Amino acid sequence: SAKRRVSIFGATGSIGQNTIDLIARDLEAYEVVALTGARNIAQLAADARRLSARIAVTAEEGLLPELRAALEGSGVQAAAGEAALLEAADMPADWIMSAIVGAAGLAPGFRALRHGTTLALANKESLVTAGPLLMAEARKYGATILPVDSEHSAVFQALVGEDMATVERIIITASGGGLRDWPESALATATPADAGAHPNWDMGQRITIDSASMFNKAMELIETKEFFGVPAAMIEAVVHPQSLIHALVGFNDGALMAHLGPPDMRHAIGYALHHPDRTHLPVARLDLAQIATLEFHAPSPTRYPALQIAREVMETGGKSGCVFNAAKEIALDGFLAGQIGFMDMSGIVSATLDAMSSDNSLSIAPVGLEDVLQTDQIARDMALDQIRSRI
Ligand code: NDP
Ligand code: MG
Repeated sequence: SAKRRVSIFGATGSIGQNTIDLIARDLEAYEVVALTGARNIAQLAADARRLSARIAVTAEEGLLPELRAALEGSGVQAAAGEAALLEAADMPADWIMSAIVGAAGLAPGFRALRHGTTLALANKESLVTAGPLLMAEARKYGATILPVDSEHSAVFQALVGEDMATVERIIITASGGGLRDWPESALATATPADAGAHPNWDMGQRITIDSASMFNKAMELIETKEFFGVPAAMIEAVVHPQSLIHALVGFNDGALMAHLGPPDMRHAIGYALHHPDRTHLPVARLDLAQIATLEFHAPSPTRYPALQIAREVMETGGKSGCVFNAAKEIALDGFLAGQIGFMDMSGIVSATLDAMSSDNSLSIAPVGLEDVLQTDQIARDMALDQIRSRI
């Protein structure tokens, strides 16, 4: 039978490498079209060779000579820059992993949908910044978007065979992140190294720090609203330190369907890769008797102000998700650079949303991708101003 053509955007990252791990176990079944990365040229070239990819693309224009040299004699094409990423998204593929980090992942995924492909969406920023546009684009071209974020994959799986009209609530879980045992008063002094260690999941640096601040969960609340098309009031987040239940769906007969699995992204990636089938996956099996206890508690609003900001964003809609994400990315850059403290990130995001809502344009929906990217740029500049005014 014909091989499945797959492309991986963000192949050198944490999600990308987990995706490659699954595909490399069964190379007979796949034809690898495009692999993309940014700065990690050695990894990109090594994987492109190993998987016999058609093309390897780095987002960094200046690294093209290095990529060319690393691919010398391999038969893999080399390309670089934003336009090359979009061209790679135009190359026919049956399944495309969207795992670039940040708003940079939006345009390539958006482009891929035009070809009616299946887009496995790890890049949550796409839904936060441009959810309605992205979902409409998929409908327009008959493309399929499958969630890869573990909570959303869990909800998606709990909904198989169910009628959305019977769904009353969607609950996503949060580990509490690397600083969950710190006294709240000490959080202001946390460094990137403190916040960059996760108790349960092994992920990229940015999302790990977003877990500690719960900006990640805030993004995921918005992601849930956009992907499943449910009102904000139906969506909850609960702290669950074990990270074994990823999400629960509550139905109108009182039933709660929970999805449990080991904290290994290869489960959600593999589910999206083989959907609608289930296939054997090389992840650990849970021993419930040994786990013994599953705990839950409500997230503290003062410890995690990001959650309340997300509620306001869900209510406002329009361009606020885009502003929220852009300001969060800039605030995270500022924290990583040592310019602002851990607890200042939410202040920067709130202040940016406030500054941009003065003329009421925030609630107006973006008309297209260009509008989103323009709003993203304005919000980044505003957030930078907010940081400058504090240092
Ligand atoms: P990583 O930081 O590990 O990887 C990011 C990838 O994007 C790398 O391939 C990187 O290239 C590439 N990249 C970075 N900047 C750019 C840019 N400007 N343009 C194009 N490519 C770029 O991130 P993760 O794998 O952790 O996360 C990827 C996405 O998946 C994020 O949206 C995240 O929120 C989401 N996600 C991640 C989970 C996880 O377990 N890690 C769980 C759920 C969702 P290079 O490394 O070569 O510079
Ligand atoms: Mg998640």
